[in-house]
Amino acid sequence: MPELPEVETIRLGLDELIVGKTIDQVLVINPSSFPNKSVEVDRYLIGASVEKLKRRAKILIIDLSTEYALVIHLKMTGQLVYVNHQHRFGAGHPNDSLVGSLPDKSTRVILHFDDNSTLFFNDQRKFGWVKILPKYLLTDTNFFKLYGPEPLQKKFNLATFKSQLLKHSKTSIKAALLNQSIIAGIGNIYADESLWLARIHPKSLIIDLTDDDVARLFKSIIAVLKLSLQKGGSTSRNYLDAKGNKGNYLKFANVYGREGQPCLNCGQPIIKIRVASRGTHICLKCQQLK
Ligand SMILES: [Zn+2]
Repeated sequence: MPELPEVETIRLGLDELIVGKTIDQVLVINPSSFPNKSVEVDRYLIGASVEKLKRRAKILIIDLSTEYALVIHLKMTGQLVYVNHQHRFGAGHPNDSLVGSLPDKSTRVILHFDDNSTLFFNDQRKFGWVKILPKYLLTDTNFFKLYGPEPLQKKFNLATFKSQLLKHSKTSIKAALLNQSIIAGIGNIYADESLWLARIHPKSLIIDLTDDDVARLFKSIIAVLKLSLQKGGSTSRNYLDAKGNKGNYLKFANVYGREGQPCLNCGQPIIKIRVASRGTHICLKCQQLK
C-alpha cells in the first residue's frame, strides 16, 4: 500500500508537471472510483486549472483554480501516471502499469489536460478513489479531523509523539504506528522499518516502553521516512520518479520483505509474525519483547 513517502513522491513529481495546466476532459471508466456525479465533474473540473499539490497523511490533494480540489486516496493498489510527449512519471502501487501502455485494464479515471497531456488513475483492486470536494472542507477540523500529526512537519516533536502514544497506552506499538489518528501516513512497511531500527518488538505495549525507547523510535520514524523519500518511495522493478529514475528504497529495506534473510545488525534470520492483523517482519534477537 502506498504510504507517506510514496504519496509525497507523487506530490513532488506532479508539482513539477501539472501545475498551471487546465483540465479539458475527464473520462471515468469505473464510476465507483470517482463517485461524483457527471454534472459535478462538468461543472467543477472541466475548465479548472491545477493550482497546487498538497498531501495530508496518505491522501493527495490537487487544489484547483476554483473553490474545489481533487482529492485522491490510493489505498491498496492505486497509482498515478502522468504522460506527455516528453515525460512519463508514475508512482504509487508498483506494477507494470507504471511503465506499460495506458489506458490498461487497471485504469479507472483519465484526466486530460489542454496541452494534450494525460493523468491516469490506475487501481487494480479498486479500493482507491478520486473525489471532488470543496476546499473549505479539507481542513484538520473537517475532512482530516481523525488524522494525527504529520511526522515530517517541523512542529512534530518528541513531546507530541509521546503524548499521542500515551492516549493509547495499552495498545501494541505496531498497532499504534498504523493508527492514522496517532500519527499520519505510516503503514506496514515503515512501521516495521522504524521498529527494527529502534530495536523495539512490535508487540510491545506502549505502557511498557521507556522514555529512551520512545525517543529512539521517534528518531527512527523520521530517519526511515526521510531516507525513503530521498530514494523516491518504496519500489519494485518498475517504479519511476519524475525524472524517470527508478525508486529503490525496498532494495535497502532493513527488515520489510526480508523474511529468512540475515538481520543486518546481528545476522539472525528475520522472521515474519502477525501483529495488529498484519504480516510483521522482525529480528527476534534485536527486537526483544519486554
Ligand atoms: Zn538482529
